[in-house]
Amino acid sequence: MTYKLDPLPYDSAALEPHIDKETMEIHHGKHHQGYVNNLNKALEENADAASKSLEDLMANISKYNTAIRNNGGGHYNHRLFWNILTDKSTSPSADLQKAIDEKFGGMDGLKEKLSQAGATRFGSGWAWLIVKDGALEVTSTPNQDNPLMDVAEVQGTPILGIDVWEHAYYLKYQNKRPDYLNAVWNVINWEEVSKNYDAAK
Ligand code: MN
Repeated sequence: MTYKLDPLPYDSAALEPHIDKETMEIHHGKHHQGYVNNLNKALEENADAASKSLEDLMANISKYNTAIRNNGGGHYNHRLFWNILTDKSTSPSADLQKAIDEKFGGMDGLKEKLSQAGATRFGSGWAWLIVKDGALEVTSTPNQDNPLMDVAEVQGTPILGIDVWEHAYYLKYQNKRPDYLNAVWNVINWEEVSKNYDAAK
């Protein structure tokens, strides 16, 4: 299995002013490309891991080495991230909206929970909206871990992930991670998150 980097599903400047073009180009073209290259390199030395799907690797990540954990997670997480962002105006499906209302008391409640999860994640990591046993939950993971991994504190299927590594925001927002978290909320692709929700619940 050899992984490759898909192009961004929109122009690298499409998410401005919320996420700037230069950040998108470096983040996708250098950081994500690096995870893909290093994942492929790690799989060359591990025939068992190379025969598994990315999802299988995540679910059994405790059996594999750090290179597969960091770069496999890095590839999975960024692939999801690009797809749940958009410059289009989108809304959640009626089904997802209902689940958000029930669990978080509405969109503002979800935004507050996710932003808090992202802001309080010490160092590098991700904030997630996941489906766990059919229900929505907000969680976060360190580094390039994700909730599919058998090592994750809270496990479930991610339907929305927000990258809170400094490389995701430092050029424009410097140390102000909460400002970035506020901005990224304007470019979430709720159609895509709704599709992920349908597949996961
Ligand atoms: Mn990143």
